[in-house]
Amino acid sequence: MEEKDSNQNQHTDDEYEKVCYICRRPESKAGPMFQMPGNMCLCHDCMQKAFDAVTRGGMDFSQIQNMPYMNLNFSDFTKMNIPDTQIPQKKKIRKKAEDKEQPGFDIRDIPAPHKIKASLDEYVIGQDQAKKVVSVAVYNHYKRVFYKDSQEKQDDVKIEKSNILMIGPTGSGKTYLVKTLARLLDVPLAIADATALTEAGYIGDDIESVISKLLAAADNDVEKAERGIVFIDEIDKIAKKKNTNTRDVSGESVQQELLKLLEGSLVEVPVGSNQKNALTPMATVNTDNILFICGGAFPDLEDIIKERLNKTSSIGFQAELKDRYDDDPDILSHVTGKDLRTFGMIPEFLGRLPVVVTFRKLTEPMLVEILSKPKNAIVRQYIKLLALDEVKLIFEDEALGWIAREALGRDTGARALRAIMEEFMLEIMFEVPKDPGIGTVVITREYLEKKGGPRIEMRG
Ligand code: ADP
Repeated sequence: MEEKDSNQNQHTDDEYEKVCYICRRPESKAGPMFQMPGNMCLCHDCMQKAFDAVTRGGMDFSQIQNMPYMNLNFSDFTKMNIPDTQIPQKKKIRKKAEDKEQPGFDIRDIPAPHKIKASLDEYVIGQDQAKKVVSVAVYNHYKRVFYKDSQEKQDDVKIEKSNILMIGPTGSGKTYLVKTLARLLDVPLAIADATALTEAGYIGDDIESVISKLLAAADNDVEKAERGIVFIDEIDKIAKKKNTNTRDVSGESVQQELLKLLEGSLVEVPVGSNQKNALTPMATVNTDNILFICGGAFPDLEDIIKERLNKTSSIGFQAELKDRYDDDPDILSHVTGKDLRTFGMIPEFLGRLPVVVTFRKLTEPMLVEILSKPKNAIVRQYIKLLALDEVKLIFEDEALGWIAREALGRDTGARALRAIMEEFMLEIMFEVPKDPGIGTVVITREYLEKKGGPRIEMRG
């Protein structure tokens, strides 16, 4: 195993930066390194400091044998041959693309919005407006990245970032849409949970950990990470806490600290770890070209919107329309910045998320579609599993409708579908391989309602 690792490193060592043995800075930051015996590298600054210490005098070399950690001489180093591979691969920083002669990032790599949407349609059911808005925002985002890279800054039109705020009930496809998007565009994606983030210095993850994750997803390639997507889930949980006397370290402060990331800034992040310490190499990542997508369920936001809409419509002649919005399934689409501020998001934060997309609660027909239509639909997965045993699996339409209704009742969106499927497919996956004579299994509504078994047809 160890041998395999070292072989791997031999092949790829050239792709990683050298790191100074003393200050742990990579060569992209500290400049060219002095290669010392034993595969040890020293940066110019540390080497200079060492010389300065010697020329200033005051060092008692006769004592050096008695100083812990210092009783080494260079011939020992050669014998020791401290391998560069001591630094685990995940903590090494990849060299910049110029050195690797890789093709650069091109606007032609980014499909037009209608093509992005068409690809999303293959996986994400419904949520048409959200898919449309996201396709355009993403296309514009990467156009901006390309424009910024190619323009010599002579013209003063500055395209602003189009970070996205996604609002919608749990299990409606927010994370799924972002994951699909990153896969289609072939860009690294980091998914972080806002509830884990706290103000720097408090227990919890620092804001920069989000960028560390992205760097890891990009294989420690800083340039690749700088074109990636960061999805911060549960963003509603960092709303300003109401009526609190203590310092709001996981709410408003986190919003404040996120501002600089969203806007675009240089962040120093530890490589391969989410802790900064003297032994972890650091990389500087520019977040300017990173697309940030924040998502959350925003419970109670519907009430805030309804209250505002009802207030405006209950004045004067329209007073009778007071309850008009109570049953509106798309109430979230009426959201305004003011509603989000009332919810507890600070204006500066909202200002950095100019594209707001709302997701609708999934309906029964949508859930039926999710079960069977997407390329990797759950039903298709089970059909494939049984096909490997040469058994045909069929779901009756009525059965699919029953599963969808059952999922609706659990109120966790499409998330419930898999759980329900697992519950009753377990028996089938256990029993069917017992009898090689079984050719077809039909899942009926009666079976789901526990009023009978599945319909079995034998081979031949
Ligand atoms: P959330 O909105 O809470 O982020 P997710 O995107 O994580 O929800 O959804 C959970 C799972 O449900 C996904 O992994 C996906 O399989 C399925 N799902 C949810 N919404 C859709 C949808 N609109 N189309 C297809 N699958 C969906």
